[in-house]
Amino acid sequence: AAQEGFDPEEVEGAIGEAGHGPLPVLAVVGRPNVGKSTLVNRIIGRREAVVEDKPGVTRDRVTYEAEWAGRRFKIVDTGGWEQDVLGIDASVAAQAEYAIEAADAVVFVVDSTVGATDTDEAVVRLLRKAGKPVVLCANKVDGLSGEADATALWSLGLGQPHPVSSLHGRGTGDMLDAVLEALPEAPAQTFGQAVGGPRRIALIGRPNVGKSSLLNRVANEDRVVVNEIAGTTRDPVDELIELGGITWKFIDTAGIRRRVHLQEGADYYASLRTAAAVEKAEVAVVLIDASESISVQDQRIITMAVEAGRALVIAYNKWDTLDEERRYYLEREIETELAQVAWAPRVNVSAQTGRHMEKLVPAIETALAGWETRIPTGRLNAFLGEIVASHPHPVRGGKQPRILFGTQAGAKPPRFVLFASGFLEAGYRRFIERRLREEFGFDGTPIHISVRVRE
Ligand code: GDP
Ligand code: GDP
Repeated sequence: AAQEGFDPEEVEGAIGEAGHGPLPVLAVVGRPNVGKSTLVNRIIGRREAVVEDKPGVTRDRVTYEAEWAGRRFKIVDTGGWEQDVLGIDASVAAQAEYAIEAADAVVFVVDSTVGATDTDEAVVRLLRKAGKPVVLCANKVDGLSGEADATALWSLGLGQPHPVSSLHGRGTGDMLDAVLEALPEAPAQTFGQAVGGPRRIALIGRPNVGKSSLLNRVANEDRVVVNEIAGTTRDPVDELIELGGITWKFIDTAGIRRRVHLQEGADYYASLRTAAAVEKAEVAVVLIDASESISVQDQRIITMAVEAGRALVIAYNKWDTLDEERRYYLEREIETELAQVAWAPRVNVSAQTGRHMEKLVPAIETALAGWETRIPTGRLNAFLGEIVASHPHPVRGGKQPRILFGTQAGAKPPRFVLFASGFLEAGYRRFIERRLREEFGFDGTPIHISVRVRE
């Protein structure tokens, strides 16, 4: 009755759709040239210049949202493969490893016209070790005559090979059905298991901003390495670290600590690693080198965390190097370059001197609290009612679109659905977001607002 002309089923549907928490993650792995990017393009149903990429051109995007049979999930694509000093087998394996680790299920792509190679076997060993559900994609089966090649891949011991032509679309539907069966509704691997467990932090930032220094600093001061908590599976790259009297799980500490920086051209590798860490984390602490100008790469890393819907803290490191002048310009820079994340708690630290280390934990807690906030429907609607009365939407074409009611469909991060009598302009939506933040806080969290318009 209170739904003002909206079909109750539509309201339910809209809330259900918007209310999803973090989406389950599917990793697509395999050797170079087996067709991973072609497959990913087909699954996401658009061409985001994935295949068009020229060799050597860094791809900064590694996760995509996809939908099949009404279910949404994320894809981590390892198609931007780069060989590094380790050699082909180890490079493929290392890159697959991050993707697998962040995933709830894996599609392993093999070129059926080539058959299983030693590199494929190396990936199979990784997959076994990880124990995640695997769907075997026998790619490049463009016609019936290729089916026998697909059958031969039973030898990999990963169960049924799904014959697919990523290029033409043949067999991809059946394979995706198998993917949905393998994929949990929610990211159980990364989220479900950890309920009540230590909160998960991804400490990220471009090379040389001071990630490992910061980790060492907190480690030296009051770290207690908790080797194992009973009942949790031990993950060698994630480490439990006590900070401010609380035990946190730092994601991919092995990567933070790794001192041998890979040679140039490892940007994609770093992006993949960062994306994987963000997927596994609840809160991202993005470290920025305050002694340098904020770079495009810094912005990309922040965007990665925001798009993944994680809580966010920005830490400006190397604060000890700043003089008055640089500090002045930095403040201006932050205002202009990072305006879109003005809601993120900010700490100005020095891993070298230990300056303001104690402010890190409160900032992280603030961000997590914002991320988890739920506004009761009654309170939200009282607030929306006030806004509509005091700041109505501008009249357009003789009509005045009005927000009729709204609800918070989900949290982590907060997601709202507004039901309106007409299309709400972008400026008005931004205004609503700003007012929501002023009213309810949401420090340190992205918020999503979707609008449903009454037909
Ligand atoms: P990636 O390195 O694993 O991401 O592989 P790409 O997606 O870049 O594909 C490598 C090459 O294989 C490209 O030339 C694709 O057009 C081709 N390819 C991908 N899928 C298929 C397929 O199903 N059939 C055929 N015939 N070629 C394919
Ligand atoms: P990572 O690549 O992000 O892990 O960065 P590192 O921790 O390896 O640090 C890169 C360089 O910055 C090293 O030479 C550090 O000594 C230096 N560094 C890190 N934190 C600070 C800081 O707070 N102040 C200063 N002056 N130098 C720092």
